[in-house]
Amino acid sequence: MEGKNTYIVRCGEVALKGMNKPYFERMLAERIKKVLKKYEGCEVKRSDGLLLVYAPEKLPREQVMGEISRVFGVDSISPAVEVESDMEEIGKAAVSYMQQLIEERGIKTFKVEAKRSDKSFPVESPQIARRIGAAVLVGCKVLKVDVHKPDCLLFVHVRRECTYIYEQKVSGFGGLPLGTNGKGLVLLSGGIDSPVAAWMMAKRGMYIEAVHYHSYPYTSERAWEKVQDLARILAGYCGRIRIHSVNLLPIQEQIVANCPEEETTILVRRFMMKIAERIARETGCLMLITGENVGQVASQTAEALVVTDAAVQMPVMRPLIALDKVDIMQKAQEIGTFETSIQPYEDCCTVFLPKHPKTKPKLDKILQSESALDCEALIEAALASKEVVTVYPED
Ligand code: ATP
Ligand code: MG
Repeated sequence: MEGKNTYIVRCGEVALKGMNKPYFERMLAERIKKVLKKYEGCEVKRSDGLLLVYAPEKLPREQVMGEISRVFGVDSISPAVEVESDMEEIGKAAVSYMQQLIEERGIKTFKVEAKRSDKSFPVESPQIARRIGAAVLVGCKVLKVDVHKPDCLLFVHVRRECTYIYEQKVSGFGGLPLGTNGKGLVLLSGGIDSPVAAWMMAKRGMYIEAVHYHSYPYTSERAWEKVQDLARILAGYCGRIRIHSVNLLPIQEQIVANCPEEETTILVRRFMMKIAERIARETGCLMLITGENVGQVASQTAEALVVTDAAVQMPVMRPLIALDKVDIMQKAQEIGTFETSIQPYEDCCTVFLPKHPKTKPKLDKILQSESALDCEALIEAALASKEVVTVYPED
């Protein structure tokens, strides 16, 4: 296509969706269109099981591929050259493709792999590879064939309407296109875990909305900015995120004044869940999402999780439940939230932290302690003072 670069996008699991495949493919194409909308002149086309993106030549390839690789549902992307399905034309295009790589990267060795989707094409795959390899050797005198560890592995994919020549693949994250699995409300702290949990659910096709609890003035404005920074990074994957910001301080003060000290944390956590459930219902979220992880801290022992879970009726997704902390940290690094998460700002959970939190709370005992409080009024008041901020992906 004149003045445009071509990219082949492969979808991972989307391809397994049987009868619903066209729907998932359409959703994926829509998502890619959406992230490329800010650049003029991009096109997304579905053609016989392939997803093709055309972007203006002046847009750096890395930038285009970076954008596409963050779309959930994308397995890999290759910048490609499109030529007529004719051996002579393919040979010429392969030579100029390799000449460019010699200039750019100083490659010395190569190998050609061919695939023929169009079985009526008169040359079979092994012969295509051999003949294009020979054409490259003639056209690029500095190159040698290395079948084991080539500097460039060149793919030639012959199809009926045209042939694609391409080299490296850039991996995406896989998963499913956003919007194919409703919306979830993440309880977003400033920590390492909850952004990763939200990301994992978004990767399964879920739109994300967030609630954050603070204890202003015990927690700072800077801590709140950090949460917005985290949401902004997440928005780079799942589009704009609405954050409901709720001051938990009045509730914490009531708990401290009226309930046993060692139960403070678990009682606060139950309030967090209950308030989140209300917000989720109001905003069309089907589930709650937390970064909880069994055994990580006192409030996440199996017993504590049972008591926390009993606070709400809505399903609570805990995608990190069985991961080790090192794996969560690695994931945070991979998705780009880690450096922000480790900035040292106080969280509302660290305000009024009991000296010896109860690690094996019993639900009946906790319910009894809760009965000393006017839960409904406290929740209503917290919701009445909530603020909503929308964060957008960074350009
Ligand atoms: P994280 O790294 O996500 O902060 P954590 O190990 O510090 O996790 P906790 O502080 O016990 O764990 O919190 C468990 C989960 O509760 C968090 O992953 C998050 O989903 C939710 N949560 C904790 N604090 C807040 C908060 N201030 N606002 C909203 N949700 C919170
Ligand atoms: Mg936390």
